[in-house]
Amino acid sequence: MHVDFAVVGAGPAGAHIAGALARTGFKVALVEQYGRGRDKPCGGLIDLALWDMLGSARNGLPAWPIRGTAVFSLGTNHITFRSEKTRSYAVFRSELDTLLSDRAEQCGANLLENTKVRGIKYNDSGVRLINGNGTAITSDMVVGADGTYSIVARSANLRPEVGHSELIFCLVSEFPLGQSRLEREIEDINTIEVYMLGGLGYGWVIPKGDYVNIGCGQAYDHLQNSNELWRKFLRTLHRHSRFVYTKIPRPKGYFYRSLKGPVVRTYADRTVLLGDAAGFANNLSGEGIWPAIQSADIALPVLERAFTNGDYSTSALELYEKNWKRRFQSEFIRKQKLLQLITQISIIRKGFLGRLIGVQAWSEGETFDRALQFIKDHKELYYMLNEVYQHRNAAVVVLPKLKKKLPSFALDYFGTSLYRRLRGEQPNY
Ligand SMILES: Cc1cc2nc3c(=O)[nH]c(=O)nc-3n(C[C@H](O)[C@H](O)[C@H](O)COP(=O)(O)OP(=O)(O)OC[C@H]3O[C@@H](n4cnc5c(N)ncnc54)[C@H](O)[C@@H]3O)c2cc1C
Repeated sequence: MHVDFAVVGAGPAGAHIAGALARTGFKVALVEQYGRGRDKPCGGLIDLALWDMLGSARNGLPAWPIRGTAVFSLGTNHITFRSEKTRSYAVFRSELDTLLSDRAEQCGANLLENTKVRGIKYNDSGVRLINGNGTAITSDMVVGADGTYSIVARSANLRPEVGHSELIFCLVSEFPLGQSRLEREIEDINTIEVYMLGGLGYGWVIPKGDYVNIGCGQAYDHLQNSNELWRKFLRTLHRHSRFVYTKIPRPKGYFYRSLKGPVVRTYADRTVLLGDAAGFANNLSGEGIWPAIQSADIALPVLERAFTNGDYSTSALELYEKNWKRRFQSEFIRKQKLLQLITQISIIRKGFLGRLIGVQAWSEGETFDRALQFIKDHKELYYMLNEVYQHRNAAVVVLPKLKKKLPSFALDYFGTSLYRRLRGEQPNY
């Protein structure tokens, strides 16, 4: 089979670009190693912008509005941010991927299911995909939308082996519980719950009507034992009186790359990378469905132009990288800094500042507990953070305000404790 564009991977990125290219009139093969609607471990939280983009197609998609986030510390404290408006939707991942694949087919893309790409060869006239089922596809260009372990990225020398320090290991269980039971188990059925587990570990509870999605993850470098991570998460849930008498089905394990942000280069001769293959998942929250779709939208005009000019060279495709950087690189950098700050809490605790203000004596759980308490005690700070939560463009509106306020909070906080410590008194928060 010969096509204009071969897209590897029918996740959100691949299905979306395949549909868009086919709608424009190109011959497209969308190659997927599994069947449609495979069960993929995922929280299934989608951005409002994606919800809007789905338009009338979303009518058949079961989805639950999310209007709040409750953050639980390792200890016993928790804090809830709420909005009047819907902030995101919780969906079943298999249903979303099926919808996007169906749409790509309706636009004219040729979806090849149960077809695993095992090798990719480049020559002067195009690209040849060699599939596990013995078939081959030739094309002018290949789009790598094949996730964390992208064979396209490796074949085009765009990414060396994925290092441990880039990976998060996750465990997820999604199961029916019944809505009334779920209402009794959690704070609110339109609020997701996020749990701090220490050691760069976190957990979540995402309500989905009759179902619930429960999962946890940890930076792979910090993971000692996946069973222990799950047990620690269950203990934390129980401490907060969640799911004490519920038999949670065995979770499925999954690795994904999120900690390091995008790969060094996302294009090569006759090749571009989208979504997780390019490392576009949010490096703080791990959410990657919307960035995957956005990267497809950014690539589309560049691919059209390459076809029109018959130029698939590196220099012609460089524009893709320039454009996605313009759109979301500054956000990646901001989140990377925030991530560093979070990972450095333990360093601060053990360091000079920690000794001065006494936090080195606190456990990690206690540090988070006190941080949440601090936000609760300073109502103005809480309202501002809640405002950040509520408004989509809050970063623009609220952060400058927050910046002005923060120094005084910080001074108040650290200054008082420093003063007390120097006088030999216990810091009092
Ligand atoms: C536990 C967990 C929870 C998450 N929760 C959320 C969330 O709530 N919200 C959110 O936005 N994001 C979440 N994410 C991230 C999200 O799942 C990804 O960022 C998103 O799926 C990226 O889409 P993609 O199309 O780039 O890749 P994928 O969805 O990974 O799709 C890649 C596709 O390529 C196929 N493929 C791979 N190799 C080959 C091959 N050799 N041949 C043929 N096909 C191949 C795969 O089978 C797969 O279908 C979560 C991730 C994990 C692990």
